Amino acid sequence: MAEDWNLPTGDLMKGKRGIVMGVANQNSIAWGISKQLAAQGAEIAFTYQGEALERRVRPLVESIGMDLMIPADVTDDASMDAAFAEIKAKWGKIDFLVHSIAFAGKDELQGSMVANTTREGFRRAMDISVYSFIDCARRGAELMPDGGSIMCMTYLGAERTVPSYNVMGVAKAALEASTRYAARDLGPQGIRVNAISAGAMRTLSLAGIRGGKSLMGTGRDWSLLKEDTSMEGVAGCALYLLSPLGRSIAGEVIHVDAGFHVVGVPDLPEE
Ligand code: NAD
Repeated sequence: MAEDWNLPTGDLMKGKRGIVMGVANQNSIAWGISKQLAAQGAEIAFTYQGEALERRVRPLVESIGMDLMIPADVTDDASMDAAFAEIKAKWGKIDFLVHSIAFAGKDELQGSMVANTTREGFRRAMDISVYSFIDCARRGAELMPDGGSIMCMTYLGAERTVPSYNVMGVAKAALEASTRYAARDLGPQGIRVNAISAGAMRTLSLAGIRGGKSLMGTGRDWSLLKEDTSMEGVAGCALYLLSPLGRSIAGEVIHVDAGFHVVGVPDLPEE
């Protein structure tokens, strides 16, 4: 269960509208980010993967006084066309887009990357976790005539090897590269594109990774702050990137992981 925190309220996102993609339940990173954006005055359209998730997502959305919910399966062009058409019809334009979506099969998220990555598994992981971001950046930018801010979620497995993360690490490396290229393409239109590299957090996605719990434990024990990555920190960073506070930041991958990413060797035992 994601912890709740005293959400800093204010007007940083007042008058801004945007899309959050990837709320599955109350533990989703996209949900933590949404609560923080709403507390700063943002108006949010939520996309969710399919009818099965609607039951879980609707009460959350209503709890923050919003109601715009649109199904969108990122592997299905017709579904994406319909979702973005609906947002365009309702709002005409948007100011921000949050992509918090990834998927790889359970069989791929364990053991040997070399042995367990099938062509189909690779294709699916790259399609859902990487291509969808490029697609969303293009579709989102079309609704940002006055500029805007787009972000996605990544993990240290893009830069270093992490047990079981396997093909998802390969996908996250491609996602981070896509962030830089999208930032380059869209920068001249005043659209900033960035990524947050979060430490391991207890969500549905983490549960799909063999040894996910231990990833959290190691992330905490090795971290500089000796604590779990907090939703508060990730959501605060998202607010920073999506609001005017993040002005001049583009093509960046910001680590929000209690400093875990800078550790080469963990604390040594007393000799
Ligand atoms: P989550 O399971 O709550 O969110 C993943 C979302 O992806 C779900 O809402 C799911 O519906 C969506 N999704 C999957 N396939 C889809 C499809 N075909 N169409 C539309 N949506 C689809 O888990 P989370 O941990 O909140 O993950 C969000 C993002 O954060 C992911 O990119 C994940 O890789 C990243 N991330 C997670 C952690 C962690 O430890 N949990 C750490 C760093 C980065």
